[in-house]
Order: sequence, then C-alpha cells, then structure tokens
Amino acid sequence: MSPINLGQALQDGTARIGATDARVLLAHVTGRNAAYLIAHPEIGMRQQQETAYRALVERREAGEPVAYLTGEREFYGRPFKVSPAVLIPRPETELLVDLALERIATSTAARILDVGTGSGCVAIAIASERSHCKIVALDQSYEALAVARRNAFELRVGNVAFLQSNWFEALRDEHFDVIVSNPPYVAAGDPHLEAGDLRFEPRSALESGTDGLDAIRHIAAEGAKHLAPGGWLLVEHGHDQGAAVRALFEAAGYADVFSEQDLADIERVTGARLTVPQPAR
Ligand code: GLN
Repeated sequence: MSPINLGQALQDGTARIGATDARVLLAHVTGRNAAYLIAHPEIGMRQQQETAYRALVERREAGEPVAYLTGEREFYGRPFKVSPAVLIPRPETELLVDLALERIATSTAARILDVGTGSGCVAIAIASERSHCKIVALDQSYEALAVARRNAFELRVGNVAFLQSNWFEALRDEHFDVIVSNPPYVAAGDPHLEAGDLRFEPRSALESGTDGLDAIRHIAAEGAKHLAPGGWLLVEHGHDQGAAVRALFEAAGYADVFSEQDLADIERVTGARLTVPQPAR
C-alpha cells in the first residue's frame, strides 16, 4: 500500500479525533505548520510519518491528552515541554503569573517562591519577565523537576533554582516577597478526575483531600512562615473555592484578601498579604 497524502491523513484523522487534534498531530509528525497542511493536501507522506501519525491518532482516540502526545504545550506565549510526570499547563493559570508580575517591581530585586512547580511554567514565565529577580521553585517529584529544568534551559531562563521538596520542607528560614502556587485542588472522588485529560495527569498534581483544600490550607499555614513582611501569597483554586480560600486565608492571619476572575469570569486566584512578620520555623 502506498503512503497517503496530507489531505487524506487530515481527513482520516478528522473522522476519528476531530479536525483540530488531527491538525496538531499531523503538524507534529511532519514538522509542518497547520497552514501548510491545509494549503498542500496533495503532498505525499513518508511511510514512517504515516505510521507515526496513525499511532498518535489511535492514542488520542483512546483519550491521551494531545499535549502528552506532542510533548509540548504553550503557556504565557512560550513553548513548554510536558510529560505525564507534570500537569499540562492551562490558560487560566496565566492569571496567576499576571497577578504575581503586578506585585513584582521591574527595578527592585524581589525574592519569589513557586510551590509545586510541575513543568515549571509559572516560575519560568515569571522569571523571564523579571530577569533581575531570583525564583526558587519547589516540587516533590524528581521527574517533574527534570521537565522543569529542561524547560528553563531551553527557554534560556537562568534565574530559577529548582529544588526537590515536599511542600516547604527543604527551605530553611528563607523569606520571600511573593509566593505563588498552582496546587492540587480537586476533591477526592470528584468525577472530573475520571474524565478527559485529567485521567492521564499525575493524581498528586490534581487531588487534595475530601474538600480539595488540603494543599491550600497547608500552603496558607506554612507560607506564612516564609513570607517577608508585606509579602504576597497567591494561589490558584477551583471554580467554586474562592469564598472558602478567602476564609481560610483570613483565619490564617492574612490581610488584604482578594480573589480575581479568569477570562471565563470564574474566581480562579486568591491572594493575600502578610503584614505582621511571622516567626521563622
Ligand atoms: N484546573 C485543573 C482542572 O480541574 C486542576 C488543576 C489543579 O488542580 N491545579 O482541570
């Protein structure tokens, strides 16, 4: 059987996984962009390319996330490598970066901490926008840290120190001006965990106790010990957790508590400031 051309490949793929995903996977396999694929349906494919494409379409049909199949996802305008060891960067998390950048002056050096960095997308986006600042990025997973370090290297970001750490444990008495986190916040047993991309993502990056707030409670309590006076804590959370997170920040002694909506008008990030210095651990 002679190999098919680009048009046939797109048509076959579209019938099985939809036009968008078919285009992305064919672009990945051929090294051509989507516009080229559409403009040149008559171009033939090498047998090897066709075999690789068919295998990816099959895996996509079985539910694997496109980002894991291509090994890449864009975040904050930059291409990030991903693997099943890390959560796939999501567009709503760009809000966390924006809110952090608003609180980091472009002139003075701020100390910034990212807790649970995963692919490193948040830390690296902040670091590349604030190259005069030092960022510390923590994750408990060595596999995730390997992905994050590779992203920093490929995006030529040299001002992030990646550190293996169970939450804040590896820190000593360092204090930070801004602490950011996109922690796990899905409630155990939430049916979303058994649907779509989430089935393939690390459970430790998604699920956090019966109400989904275990990690955020821990970050609020421990974060207080690592914030400089006046320093900000910013955390992403679920669509219905804004009020609960504000309440637990207030209970933990934070001031200036606020929540901000993402582009879908959903409360997505809650922040607060520590005005009274806390004793170091
Ligand atoms: N926003 C993700 C989802 O539910 C969850 C990411 C997270 O837990 N940080 O799809």
